[in-house]
Amino acid sequence: MALIHLMQNKCPKCHQGQVFNTGNLFSFKPAKMQDECPHCHQNFSKEPGFYWGAMYVSYGLATLEMALACIFSISIGISALDFTNLGICIAFVLVLFPFNFRMARLIWLYLFTNLIES
Ligand SMILES: [Zn+2]
Repeated sequence: MALIHLMQNKCPKCHQGQVFNTGNLFSFKPAKMQDECPHCHQNFSKEPGFYWGAMYVSYGLATLEMALACIFSISIGISALDFTNLGICIAFVLVLFPFNFRMARLIWLYLFTNLIES
């Protein structure tokens, strides 16, 4: 259930307000995160540097996406050692960068809001 709310860009506490101004996680517009939930006033910026840890989540997401792109490339007949395969993997991660940025922050926020404050 929390995964559905996370994908819908909803507040981890009340599941009503939005964390980012835009609801589309794949939007290429610059992501603007709200300071607090417009519905329950949950603080989204817990402390300075809180979202530095989201880089670890982003790294994991990018690694998973590169592995999936590599498997896809191999399945359509491109050798794993070919530079075309590397290009496809890098292009795939670059296209998904806005999604990774928002999703990593949302996962990080969900982890620490639900584990510490419940
Ligand atoms: Zn809320």
